[in-house]
Amino acid sequence: MSSFYTLVLRNASQVLTMAGGPTDKPLTGAALSQWRIIEQGFVACHGDALAAVAPMSELDETRIGPHTTVLDVSGCVLMPGLVECHTHLVFGGNRADEFQRKLQGESYLDILASGGGILSTVRKTRAATFEELLANALHHLEGFRRYGVTTLEAKTGYGLDLETELRLLRVAHEAARQQPIRLVHTFLGAHVPGPEYKGRAAEYLEYLVGEVLPAARGLAEFVDIFCEEGAFSVEDSRRYLQQARDLGFKLKIHAEQLHELGGCQMAAGLGATSVDHCDYLSPEGAAQVAAAGQGRTVAVLLPLVPLYLRQEKYAPGRAFIDAGLPVALSTDFNPGSCPSKNLWLAVSVACLKMGLTPLEALAAVTLNAAWALDRQQQIGSLEPGKRADVLVLNVPDYRELPYWLGENPVRQVVIGGQIS
Ligand SMILES: [Zn+2]
Repeated sequence: MSSFYTLVLRNASQVLTMAGGPTDKPLTGAALSQWRIIEQGFVACHGDALAAVAPMSELDETRIGPHTTVLDVSGCVLMPGLVECHTHLVFGGNRADEFQRKLQGESYLDILASGGGILSTVRKTRAATFEELLANALHHLEGFRRYGVTTLEAKTGYGLDLETELRLLRVAHEAARQQPIRLVHTFLGAHVPGPEYKGRAAEYLEYLVGEVLPAARGLAEFVDIFCEEGAFSVEDSRRYLQQARDLGFKLKIHAEQLHELGGCQMAAGLGATSVDHCDYLSPEGAAQVAAAGQGRTVAVLLPLVPLYLRQEKYAPGRAFIDAGLPVALSTDFNPGSCPSKNLWLAVSVACLKMGLTPLEALAAVTLNAAWALDRQQQIGSLEPGKRADVLVLNVPDYRELPYWLGENPVRQVVIGGQIS
């Protein structure tokens, strides 16, 4: 390849680099808001990688050749592509009927206990064909891309048997092949015990370890479990995650969503890459998680879930950051507790209900979200050598991003140096 840039985005009013802080662990404390913003800057790409990120005064015009695409982005903010680090992408049907039941006062756990919730999606997912599931996944990925998502984690968890869980992984891999968003694959067969194992949670986990996890190797990078009343206990979750780790998987957990059981601390002690939800994790518990995870385990906060479930309790994100626990933000896109792909709305709600500042929330959907997927070397910040995933936003100042509630600020999405 020649030394000419392939793509230059010039005259940005601000470039949010997310760079300049410690690189050996995710950002927390003061570092979460002390990353570098370049006023009047540019971003230059060479192929699929970032080649230069700097003020306009440092743009080397000799590297703009006849085949360089040059975009003037005056009046726009540039930032890294959004990293959506917690979604349940592949499922059949939807649960619009349960929205009514929730409004009439039924709780999430009541609906789950009556065979609704996750299990109703399991029935629809098992009944769906590969092609139907793929079409749904591609539809949702298109929506995510319009919002500026360039990397997305996709969990299974609506099959709960060998055949369907593997089908969900294969659907996600095929979806990754057919569109530009990069996918990270997580096996969540331990979402709830499969309907054939009602009341036998530990036996269900033995089945997963004995028959399903070995077949999921090579298709999933992470193993996740829902540690909660009505799902799996802390002790069962510990045994399962240890076994998954022994098989070579990286670890995640859904924990402290509805009760403080100690799942986050347990998983951090096993070296989990992330602990997700954390609405009921106390500030004291957060300090213990930070210590158990040696500052590398990321708490993935999902502010749209309590909003959608009409819960008053939100994870005390401000206290987590002050306690040294790194946080990331995600939608938790799924058909029950968060049918939204709008990570910008999650940023706003995290500021309003979890006490994050706009600068912290923006780092939490980029660099810290990359850490939550073990992709911090490749994505999450605008630095030479990293993948050229860049957003052109229709605002001149980052402070407008959480301010315009629920709006989509994305003008253009660059994935791997390609305008998509
Ligand atoms: Zn989830």
